[in-house]
Amino acid sequence: MRTAFISDIHANLDALEMVLADIAKQETDRIVCLGDIVGYGPDPNPCVARVRDVCEVTVVGNHDYAALGRIDTLGFNEYARAAAEWTTSALDKDSIAFLNSLPLKKVLDGMHLVHASPMDPERWTYILSYQEAKRQLGAFPEQICFVGHSHLPIVVEEEGEEIRALPFSSDVPVRIHRDRRYLVNVGSVGQPRDRDPRCGYAWYDSEARAVMMRRLEYPIANVQKKIVDAGLPPFLAQRLADGV
Ligand code: ZN
Repeated sequence: MRTAFISDIHANLDALEMVLADIAKQETDRIVCLGDIVGYGPDPNPCVARVRDVCEVTVVGNHDYAALGRIDTLGFNEYARAAAEWTTSALDKDSIAFLNSLPLKKVLDGMHLVHASPMDPERWTYILSYQEAKRQLGAFPEQICFVGHSHLPIVVEEEGEEIRALPFSSDVPVRIHRDRRYLVNVGSVGQPRDRDPRCGYAWYDSEARAVMMRRLEYPIANVQKKIVDAGLPPFLAQRLADGV
């Protein structure tokens, strides 16, 4: 079974279409979305509609919650807050209904799926240290957990007491050993933050026992223009080109 993972689309339709076109060219059995479909970008409704149509499973992200008014945006920086307010006013009835229907986490064929972190998903914890990764690896019983949220692709491998971070770069498969456990961050479709502006997604082949990241160029200037034309903060356009 080959599963493609998309996450943190952030209303960037140009990046989403590029990723979906690439997924369609591969042998892919299903697509899973790990949340943050909206927030920051200029095309929230078309992105929600595409995810609803193509994804077998979708979990909700903190920016989806913020756009629905289900969490306070006080913890957001000024750009994220301005974008959340813009998104709330832009969402149509169908998008609101779909986003409201999404679960915080899901288990699918032995894979744990959550936007931010398996331990207490509604705290939206970032997994950015070995200590945090160890805590989170103890919070789910399955062998492998897929997350998004930080927009930084990485594979964390647990072997007994030892934990190591493995690079997760484009087109380099990472082996999934039967006797080890994993936390896989699938990066971001619509707002990468690892200084590589290319849009990204990951797949997991359960027969080949491997995960792999894909990074693709997409027309960033188109999205930048739409962001500025929509009256969203220009910083949100600039960061797409910088990959931060
Ligand atoms: Zn995000």
